[in-house]
Amino acid sequence: MTERQAGRPLVAREVMASNAVAMGRRAGKASQPSVVARVHEIALKGANRPWFMHTLVRNIEYALRGVPHERPRVRNTRVVIPIAGVEVWPSVRERLAWVFGIANFSLALETGLGLEELQDGLGRLLELLGPPSGGYRVRAKRTNKGYPMTSPELERVLGQYVKDRTGAPVHLTAPEVTYQIEILYDRALVSGTAVKGPGGLPVGVSGRVVVLLSGGFDSPVAAYRMLKRGCFLTLVHCHAYPYVRPVSIEKVVEIARHLGRYQPGVRLSIVPIGDAQREIALVSEPGLRVLLYRRLMLRIAAAVAHEHGAGAIVTGESLGQVSSQTLENMRVIGAVTDLPLLRPLVGFNKDEIMAEAEQIGTAPVSRVPDDDCCTVFIPRHPATHATLAQAEEAEQAFDAQALVDACLAQRTDYEGDPAGWDVTLALAAAAR
Ligand code: ATP
Ligand code: MG
Repeated sequence: MTERQAGRPLVAREVMASNAVAMGRRAGKASQPSVVARVHEIALKGANRPWFMHTLVRNIEYALRGVPHERPRVRNTRVVIPIAGVEVWPSVRERLAWVFGIANFSLALETGLGLEELQDGLGRLLELLGPPSGGYRVRAKRTNKGYPMTSPELERVLGQYVKDRTGAPVHLTAPEVTYQIEILYDRALVSGTAVKGPGGLPVGVSGRVVVLLSGGFDSPVAAYRMLKRGCFLTLVHCHAYPYVRPVSIEKVVEIARHLGRYQPGVRLSIVPIGDAQREIALVSEPGLRVLLYRRLMLRIAAAVAHEHGAGAIVTGESLGQVSSQTLENMRVIGAVTDLPLLRPLVGFNKDEIMAEAEQIGTAPVSRVPDDDCCTVFIPRHPATHATLAQAEEAEQAFDAQALVDACLAQRTDYEGDPAGWDVTLALAAAAR
């Protein structure tokens, strides 16, 4: 049994000596600032971990494009991103809020494992961030359980170090600043107060879905929710231009730009359905038309899903919100595809959805008045109730598949950087 196991705490001198031996070298002084992004360990269980971390790193690189930094490195359940200097920390801070899968992150320095190196790192961190704005605490976490100092010992010694340097008061229960010391196997991380990340799963780990995106409040929130669950999005918008104003098209392009923050390579298909709606209106009674239009849209979404290898279709429907969103109608509409139909907002009230739209930033665009393509060629607002048999019978009067094909032939696909998407292309295609 060693003295350590016998309970005598190691003194700092011994810690440094034992680390130098264990590492075979002493790491250099901490100098380059980094950002450490941490993931929820629970999300990392199982064989998917390398894939999860790989996807997370790709998404971090995407979010940080244009911000000077070096290649992010995976360290256990963390990603460490060396940054050009503390002056880019504010923009990194803003951008990492768009990367799902990150539980929290902080400005950090990588150091060697010796106590003196930890102190150097903490000293440098204090220079970068300035002294604590109020009470502070030091928290230590050891991934390497063989480290010769316990977490409470590290907290005490390094807490004292901060006190000696700054004179700031320790506050263990409600500190303004929490310095974190993370002891890994071959290095340590010394970091400032953690900023809460967006959580969720890295976009891409859950596969691809097609989102039916209208210009309203609901579907952008539904899309956001699926991004947060790790889905890659293909967006599909149906419109009745030139029978109505083009404003909904402008709105969805703007919303796609917004959602494009979270996802590398967002795609949007804009599909004109006005001519098909006119044909349906010519041969069907007004009371059925909304449902027939919806079935048309869902068939279009299913065709795009098939092309893009998407595993589900997402809508912003919420049960009972409007007359077309009853269980009965959901069944009649959903029957046109065997893909799973995901409705992440099904149990939400409108005010809950609006609050989330404000929070994620899509509300200002959604609020702009537009024309709903589902009301074109419908004289008043007749009740939308029909059985599946009625809908299928009404569709005997036209060739639904031919309408879908004709609509898709006129569609405009956007991909690449959404900042450069040109709305006039979709308008020209619809007028062809
Ligand atoms: P939203 O706020 O998303 O527009 P809403 O409350 O207006 O929803 P509906 O118009 O009944 O509700 O639409 C229900 C769902 O159908 C939408 O959330 C969206 O997923 C899809 N949808 C509606 N209109 C369109 C459209 N023009 N193009 C693509 N999808 C649409
Ligand atoms: Mg709508």
